[in-house]
Amino acid sequence: MKALCWHGKHDIRYDTVPDPQIEEPRDAIIKMSSCAICGSDLHLFDGFMPGMEAGDVMGHEFMGEVVEVGSGNKKLKVGDRVVVPFTICCGECEQCQRGNWSVCERSNRNKDIADKVFGHTTAGLFGYTHLTGGYAGGQAEYIRVPYADVAPVKVPDGMSDESVLFLGDILPTGWQAAVQCDIQRTDTVAIWGAGPVGQFAARAAILLGAKEVVVIDRLPDRLSMAKACGALTINFDQESVVERLNELTGGKGPEKCIDAVGMESHVGSTVDTFYDRAKQAVMAESDRPHVLREMIYVCRPAGVLSVPGVYGGLVDKIPFGMLMNKGLTVRTGQTHVNRWTDDLMRRIQQGQIDPTFVITHTESLADGPEMYKTFRDKKEGCIKVVLKP
Ligand code: NAD
Ligand code: ZN
Ligand code: ZN
Repeated sequence: MKALCWHGKHDIRYDTVPDPQIEEPRDAIIKMSSCAICGSDLHLFDGFMPGMEAGDVMGHEFMGEVVEVGSGNKKLKVGDRVVVPFTICCGECEQCQRGNWSVCERSNRNKDIADKVFGHTTAGLFGYTHLTGGYAGGQAEYIRVPYADVAPVKVPDGMSDESVLFLGDILPTGWQAAVQCDIQRTDTVAIWGAGPVGQFAARAAILLGAKEVVVIDRLPDRLSMAKACGALTINFDQESVVERLNELTGGKGPEKCIDAVGMESHVGSTVDTFYDRAKQAVMAESDRPHVLREMIYVCRPAGVLSVPGVYGGLVDKIPFGMLMNKGLTVRTGQTHVNRWTDDLMRRIQQGQIDPTFVITHTESLADGPEMYKTFRDKKEGCIKVVLKP
């Protein structure tokens, strides 16, 4: 079959690879109808995530039709249409039982390595690093889904791929980011990053009743998309984020702050970003945590920092004293996708959310290598790419 494979930094290829096979009784094989490129894929593309190997199949946002089912799988049958969450979950361990799906204790087949690197393992993830199991991803014609009787979400008849595809990752990710803020009617919620995750976080914060939502980025088309849902916007190339957020909140700072940027914060706006880039280049720091620093500084005391943005390893110069003395709460994590999918599917069906607005590019899988560059460089107004195998 054809698939997009990682061959090193900035090197994604449209390769021919072996077709996946059923390996365990609970597996299923899915024939892809649509898949997408996520901001998290860019961290692999840009070579900042450790644990990738040449030939790894990329992709963790995908959906399609079940074409083969293992003998022990009682949930799926051939012909079912499913969206597959990016987190692989056994459904039986203590964490799965508690709904902490992204930290399933059994689905990471490289548990030993993860135990050493993170202290304790987290869930297996599709198309991601070998630290999370090194499972082949969904930017491919077919995929093997382990524990396929747990996470996959069946798609009701009549719903388009585009309307449900993002249930596997960025929609629940934006939603969880907002839920973790414990939003009150009096809250100002500031969101760094107007990429797909920031866009969904903004809409979630509004649906969850925030008084005001402020989205921060530097790309005009992304800021316009955020404005369209009623958010205020700050262009950090043109004005001081801290001054503007204080101005908007009577000098007190936003109660809730969401980092939808992660480890590759833009370099250039402030001195600390040059410092991070220099340290990252010589591997003395794995991530560029400018947004974390800015959030800790500007957040109102006793506020909440919600961090869906992905970090890979070590960050530097985080003002922990400021965080502690201000009594801030930090909530983060890979998304517990299945915690939110039933509710979000219902909201899509009721028309409360239409996730298709975020799609700017639909191309063939073969165009994937080019589309990684277009998405990374934010060329042609690119915000979200859907690929059709
Ligand atoms: P994206 O790359 O499209 O968007 C990131 C945006 O941040 C860009 O628009 C960029 O201009 C902006 N930005 C860069 N530096 C900034 C700064 N200093 N201040 C404000 N904005 C800045 O990515 P995305 O798909 O929206 O994903 C965003 C983050 O969420 C990534 O780190 C991704 O890995 C992560 N993510 C996490 C999960 C999860 O489960 N926690 C799931 C999906 C994505
Ligand atoms: Zn993702
Ligand atoms: Zn589990």
